[in-house]
Amino acid sequence: MLPLSLSAPDPSWERDVDVVVLGSGAAGLSAALAARPVRSVLVITKDELAAGSTTWAQGGLAGVLHPEDSLEHHVSDTVTAGAGLCDEAVVRELVTEAPKSIRYLMRLGAAFDPDETGDEIALTREGGHSHHRIVHSGGDRSGLEVQRTLDQSAVAAGVEVMSRTFALDLLVGRAADGERQVAGVRVGSLDTQGQVVSVGHVTARAVVIACGGYGQVFASTSNPPAVTGDGVALALRAGLPVTDVEFVQFHPTVMWTGADARGQQALVSEAVRGEGAILYDAEGERVMKGVHPLEDLAPRDVVAAAITRRMARLREQGAEVSDHVYLDATHLGDRFHERFPGITEACRAIGIDPAVDRIPVAPASHYACGGIRAGLDGRTGLRGLFAAGEVSRTGVHGANRLASNSLTESVVTGTRLGRDLAWELPDRVEPMFDAAPVVTGLLDPARLPEVRSAMSRHVAVLRDASSLALAGDEVAAIARSLDRGVDPSVQSWESTNLLTVATAVIAAASARTESRGCHRRTDFADPRDVWRTSIDVRLDAAGRVHLSGVPPGA
Ligand SMILES: Cc1cc2nc3c(=O)[nH]c(=O)nc-3n(C[C@H](O)[C@H](O)[C@H](O)COP(=O)(O)OP(=O)(O)OC[C@H]3O[C@@H](n4cnc5c(N)ncnc54)[C@H](O)[C@@H]3O)c2cc1C
Repeated sequence: MLPLSLSAPDPSWERDVDVVVLGSGAAGLSAALAARPVRSVLVITKDELAAGSTTWAQGGLAGVLHPEDSLEHHVSDTVTAGAGLCDEAVVRELVTEAPKSIRYLMRLGAAFDPDETGDEIALTREGGHSHHRIVHSGGDRSGLEVQRTLDQSAVAAGVEVMSRTFALDLLVGRAADGERQVAGVRVGSLDTQGQVVSVGHVTARAVVIACGGYGQVFASTSNPPAVTGDGVALALRAGLPVTDVEFVQFHPTVMWTGADARGQQALVSEAVRGEGAILYDAEGERVMKGVHPLEDLAPRDVVAAAITRRMARLREQGAEVSDHVYLDATHLGDRFHERFPGITEACRAIGIDPAVDRIPVAPASHYACGGIRAGLDGRTGLRGLFAAGEVSRTGVHGANRLASNSLTESVVTGTRLGRDLAWELPDRVEPMFDAAPVVTGLLDPARLPEVRSAMSRHVAVLRDASSLALAGDEVAAIARSLDRGVDPSVQSWESTNLLTVATAVIAAASARTESRGCHRRTDFADPRDVWRTSIDVRLDAAGRVHLSGVPPGA
């Protein structure tokens, strides 16, 4: 059984605003900025403004800006990558708005890299894209520029920020017509060590969840430490469905720094392969030759699965090196340093010069394609509650996200819903409090490595029924150790949230008896028509996981 609320000290303060936004990445800040001109907007963020994935994005933002490209090409590439689970109408909406969102960021002051003529923006290609359509900044520091632009714009617009404040659980009330409606959020303010200073209630007419994905549920990930699935867990506890959560994208080329490396690892952007880099195994054989027509530029799921299979084969053959492969970008020579300064820095930190050396890489968790079911306008199934960015599942990414579509989606959805909230807000409702609140324990943070290890050993790039059953047993045993004696802190809240997310991912991955997009089962190697549908995961009133959408006969 999973907890239905996060234990914390009793609330000692209250705030009231029009709109409260949870999270300060591209999605949250875009929403806050768009709503701000006519609303009081409070951004709650658990660390500093720039602690989320947005800052780390390397490749850039996808949008049709070249005359030889077209919206139809971008739609078709996105839908192909999504492997039959994209909502094409939503993809079309996103792709149509994408160039506008890039120009909007430029008007806010984002400096994207110019092409060689200096007159136009440079456009690059990444895996799965048929055309050059990715704008970037500082070479491979695109996310940093997006975050800087939005930080400055939001603060200049008068958005109020409460940093080091953790969103715990939603406050819910009932509207005049009897429908459930969000009333605000319970939050915990933290000191610099993550200890709780106080707990408060922020009431609002609209709550926007923009807490990012859940890459940290795996032992090795490209995601920063803040990306712990808090938004997905909070939605589950509020009774909302989360959808497509089994589709976790593993980035094929995350820098490999040793068998014991844990937590966030440096990413080697797909743009490096876009510039012609080639994957080799330790025996010097090309990994992607004959695997896919696009070879090294095949979609991420294909490349990650090919690398994983190659490593398994080498392991069986007793090869000396079987836990990573190599990315060769030496044809770029010194140009590598200029084009990819951030990756150069990360390589130098492990004593590698990518202009002359091959870079050791292995797949690691990177992007959550699923999340809280929401429209491209952020609306969820609960009145007054919106979700945007990686925490949401809008139907754009289907079973596998096309590279660089996520920053674009975060800015488009955030801005859309922020504008809608500037136009119209639901009436205020009073939060209802259960007479006897469900009291459950928290997970001791010392046990979190066991959750992550179970996920990485059994639910990674390639899964099957027995590995998923093992993961389910291990995580269920850990869930039985939830303890009321564990002190509330950022570490115990995040650990409990990650346990909740792990349980949801394992349940959905076990149910989906096929391979599709980034969900690859070795016991069901192919997609099955019956599975051209999404699974919703919910928690019931007892904290048990329920699935809906599993097709009969599957
Ligand atoms: C290394 C890397 C490279 C990437 N490269 C690209 C790329 O080139 N192009 C692309 O399109 N995408 C890329 N992505 C994905 C993209 O960066 C993310 O999908 C996108 O930035 C998500 O934005 P977001 O606003 O939804 O979430 P985030 O930017 O992750 O922000 C989440 C925010 O929520 C806050 N938060 C979380 N939980 C709580 C809580 N309980 N209470 C309060 N605050 C909370 C966090 O502190 C953070 O401020 C990359 C991701 C990584 C990790």
